[in-house]
Amino acid sequence: MSKIYDTIGIGFGPANIAVAIAMEELGYDKKVLFLEKESSTVWQKDMLFEGSDIQNHPLRDLVTPANPRSKYTFTNFLFEQGRLFEHFNLGMHFPFRVEYGQYITWVASHFQHLVKYDTTISSITVEEDKGEYIYKIILNDGVQYLAKSIVVATGRTPYIPNEFVGLDPNKVIHLTKYLSTINSLKEEDVQSIAVVGGSQSAIEILLHASERFPQADILGVTKSFGYRMKDVSPFTGEVYFPEFVDLFYKSSKKNKERLINDLHFTNYSATDLDVLDELYRKMYQQKIQGKQKIFIERSADITKVIENGKIEIHFDSIEKEKSSVHDIDLVILATGFKNIGTKPHQEKIPKVFMDLSRHLSLNSDECIDVYPNYRVKMKPYLENAYCFMNGFCESSHGMGDAGSFSLLALRSRAIVSALKKKEESFQLENAN
Ligand SMILES: Cc1cc2nc3c(=O)[nH]c(=O)nc-3n(C[C@H](O)[C@H](O)[C@H](O)COP(=O)(O)OP(=O)(O)OC[C@H]3O[C@@H](n4cnc5c(N)ncnc54)[C@H](O)[C@@H]3O)c2cc1C
Repeated sequence: MSKIYDTIGIGFGPANIAVAIAMEELGYDKKVLFLEKESSTVWQKDMLFEGSDIQNHPLRDLVTPANPRSKYTFTNFLFEQGRLFEHFNLGMHFPFRVEYGQYITWVASHFQHLVKYDTTISSITVEEDKGEYIYKIILNDGVQYLAKSIVVATGRTPYIPNEFVGLDPNKVIHLTKYLSTINSLKEEDVQSIAVVGGSQSAIEILLHASERFPQADILGVTKSFGYRMKDVSPFTGEVYFPEFVDLFYKSSKKNKERLINDLHFTNYSATDLDVLDELYRKMYQQKIQGKQKIFIERSADITKVIENGKIEIHFDSIEKEKSSVHDIDLVILATGFKNIGTKPHQEKIPKVFMDLSRHLSLNSDECIDVYPNYRVKMKPYLENAYCFMNGFCESSHGMGDAGSFSLLALRSRAIVSALKKKEESFQLENAN
């Protein structure tokens, strides 16, 4: 008979690594396992560019906001690497992404005894065991695990605009596949690249691709007139405060919508100034040298995409009277991720929860729903089988929640505190 774990964490990226820290520091010493599909923990490995920096205050790491004295802080990582003083001297507002990635891997290395790598979850279902409901986690090789509670942290689903759905995956990729795809390509095989989107990642990819494929024409495609700067006002930055999560969770649907629209450019469809300047200067230098290789289709709407050996993209733009068409060898979609909701770029239930759908207590929009502590609302018979969504809750908990490190430390504490409370009340019930 399979062993039943008290808690299984699905995915071992930053969100569940923060949970592992919280379990240790809050004394949750039950039978725990984390299942991770990669063979090691490397943070967003397909976007780990040399020279790129992170977009959060480095002390908003996996633990500092909850426990600054923890040994798993970014500061202690630097100290243990013998780089603390040099790091002070860097004078960088944000550290290199490569270094922050090393920090994530370093923290993960302390929890190897709890993690099974190379295990891809294909389904989560529910099973009854002696009157108790438990979760059955099925891997893609058929192996099964059982758990009383689960913490799902597999990251949000990449958003692929409709026009690109189902096209050749060697020619149309989401940014989450960027480095692994281009590393397998020969320079001479790529003469034209399109980067779709106006996010930080879009600009970083434009810059990176122009270095990697200097002979290729590189086309940036954006709906807006110009690539925008992020709203980095310290006032709007309060969206990453824990108080904002409370405010947002309690807000009406209408007010949530207002806040989402208002705060969009703090994190989405906008970039930091350093990479914008770098791109603008690069394009200017190309003009000076008469060798323009980077082009922008701005105020552009993609009207049609056809696979014709290459990827033929048709655009309407307010600057051109006729539609323009480009034949592209490689399209990179820097189009972000899906939040939970009913809009075309959203999803009601992320795929990983699909086989649980008949056990979910959906909200009035028929979307998966959560309590403030990130516990998924299940049908009453599953009220004691806790399932947490860790890293999917931007629609319910606000901007700072899913797409950022900012609240990972506090979110993981909320999850582990709920698991502990459940255990304590179970022990109390059994003692009576
Ligand atoms: C390019 C990029 C740059 C970013 N930069 C910043 C930044 O500078 N600052 C910031 O605050 N935020 C940043 N973010 C957002 C940040 O990455 C997230 O906040 C963070 O990675 C979320 O962690 P996570 O664990 O929820 O998801 P992920 O990092 O996506 O980790 C999910 C984990 O689950 C595993 N997994 C997925 N599916 C399965 C499965 N079926 N079975 C088993 N395991 C599975 C994955 O392999 C992965 O290890 C960035 C995001 C991207 C895409």
